[in-house]
Amino acid sequence: MFFPFGIKDVIDIVLVALMLYYLYRLMKESRSLNVFIGIMVFVIVWLIVSQVLEMRLLGSIMDKLVSVGVIGLIVLFQEEIRHFLYSLGAHRKVNNLVKLFTKTGKEEVDKETIMPIVMACMSMSRGKVGALIVIERGVMLEDIVETGDLIDARINQRLIENIFFKNSPLHDGAMVISKRRIKAAGCILPVSHKQDIPKELGLRHRAAMGISQDSDALAIIVSEETGRISVALHGEFQLRLSAEQLESILTKEMAPA
Ligand code: ATP
Ligand code: MG
Repeated sequence: MFFPFGIKDVIDIVLVALMLYYLYRLMKESRSLNVFIGIMVFVIVWLIVSQVLEMRLLGSIMDKLVSVGVIGLIVLFQEEIRHFLYSLGAHRKVNNLVKLFTKTGKEEVDKETIMPIVMACMSMSRGKVGALIVIERGVMLEDIVETGDLIDARINQRLIENIFFKNSPLHDGAMVISKRRIKAAGCILPVSHKQDIPKELGLRHRAAMGISQDSDALAIIVSEETGRISVALHGEFQLRLSAEQLESILTKEMAPA
């Protein structure tokens, strides 16, 4: 049996291989590797049954399962799909292209916005008060804000410290800062399942990492255990920051595009 095999087919195969590899990595990261293997086994059996052996009855049943299964998979993996599409959209090259045509919602910042945050973090660091502050940038965080209590107040050092004070009702969870205002506190962030996060970092750090992977937000963590200040941005940590370092990161990252 001979059939024409051109350059287009090579590209086709390479693209499918790349897609499968990417899917494999994504599933591995989200600990769904067994599901991926299960799907692959099903697809192979389906191809053999309906394409190679041409068993009509079993083939038609499996055809039906495949068409329903796609919807099932979308429901099952909505988080992963969202994550994948976000990372595709957040890719630097794509992003630069988009920025050419649209102005992103990055807010304009000045010292009056940054300094109270830096000062509050330093003070909480000295007092070993745990804190988690998420600063919204281009991607809107309304879904996160809804998980907490709305505040909508001007940024103010004492208010930030007050919210994270140990017995304050809102000290648990994350504070969201949006458009130069303290939007909400006590918010729940998506926890990252990344495997290369140092063991000594707990849920607060994983939650900061999670939001930095799912959006372009910047998350500041003040550790309750060590008093150390860290930042999570674009899925990377910058650990053990000084006041100057924190200030320069905020100035750089919160500047208008
Ligand atoms: P620390 O260095 O301050 O101890 P850690 O990274 O070790 O931080 P934990 O000790 O597990 O983290 O901190 C738990 C606190 O982190 C919780 O009390 C809560 O305020 C916050 N936290 C945990 N998970 C989330 C989440 N998904 N969203 C928002 N805040 C969270
Ligand atoms: Mg801890």
